[in-house]
Amino acid sequence: MVAGVLNAAAEDHATVVLAGHVQPDADALGSTLALAEGLRRRGARVLATFPGPFTLPTSLGWLPGAEGLVPASAVPSSPDLFVSLDAASPGRLGELAPLLDAARTSVVVDHHASNPGFGDVRLVDPTAPATVVLVADLLDGLGVAVDRPLATCLYAGLAADTGSFRFGNTRPDTHDLAARLLATGIDHSRISQRLFDTAPFGWLGLLSVVTGRAVLEPEVGAGLVWTWSSTAEAAEHGLPGEQLEALVDVVRATQEADVSCVLKGQDDGTWSVSLRSRGATDLARVAMALGGGGHRAAAGYTSTFDREATIGALRAELSAG
Ligand code: MN
Repeated sequence: MVAGVLNAAAEDHATVVLAGHVQPDADALGSTLALAEGLRRRGARVLATFPGPFTLPTSLGWLPGAEGLVPASAVPSSPDLFVSLDAASPGRLGELAPLLDAARTSVVVDHHASNPGFGDVRLVDPTAPATVVLVADLLDGLGVAVDRPLATCLYAGLAADTGSFRFGNTRPDTHDLAARLLATGIDHSRISQRLFDTAPFGWLGLLSVVTGRAVLEPEVGAGLVWTWSSTAEAAEHGLPGEQLEALVDVVRATQEADVSCVLKGQDDGTWSVSLRSRGATDLARVAMALGGGGHRAAAGYTSTFDREATIGALRAELSAG
């Protein structure tokens, strides 16, 4: 169904706007750039964007095609086709959400368990480990050959959302796709290094402060470990706010806690809450109850409470589950 819509748009040289979620990650951006390029090669007039703020972390800004991204303010308000990629809800599209209705046709491509079902035409598969997996199928449906630039975008999303093929969402056909992408000649080692293993020296200082104040609460749910930081604190260490994203990947190793949580204080005073589970807790449910969404093992939401009230609400929800 989605493949048919995309093929028709390409053949009609339609104007297509593609967007991932706010603060795009490797899956959102890789999906957007790969499908945009595929549609462009098939003859569509393509604009690739994402909701503001219009800045990319250095870990993603090098992806092939990123230089052609345009700010959300630069896309037509009622294109022939709008494609939402890796966004679990309309809210995750920020100021681009009205395009779901304003476009002649809207398509939603996503893999979040919490996706409520929106857009005119949907390809939503919670069993897919990444949205790029769905995009790879769509590129095949468009008859677009996946070459090195496209494979780089797809591999970035695949490696990121599977934790480099360590998470439970990795399936036999996930490795089949990875093999196909590697066979194009991409430098997967360099891709992974840029995505996961590159940070300024100041990150070590931030990490020591943030892990040093972590709190273990084994009695909450199946065990909770949590800590906090903020964009202001990152700045004290000479770091952009995006460096806060990797903190949870360290905290979640805590053996005594099934759930790990990092509260990331934003410039506007809200807390962006990252949650990870070691397997016993359904965080898609927890995050949805608190106004967000995500996957079973990885989810998040935004809190407007102060720090103690934010962690208090999480404690209550984990204890209820
Ligand atoms: Mn994803």
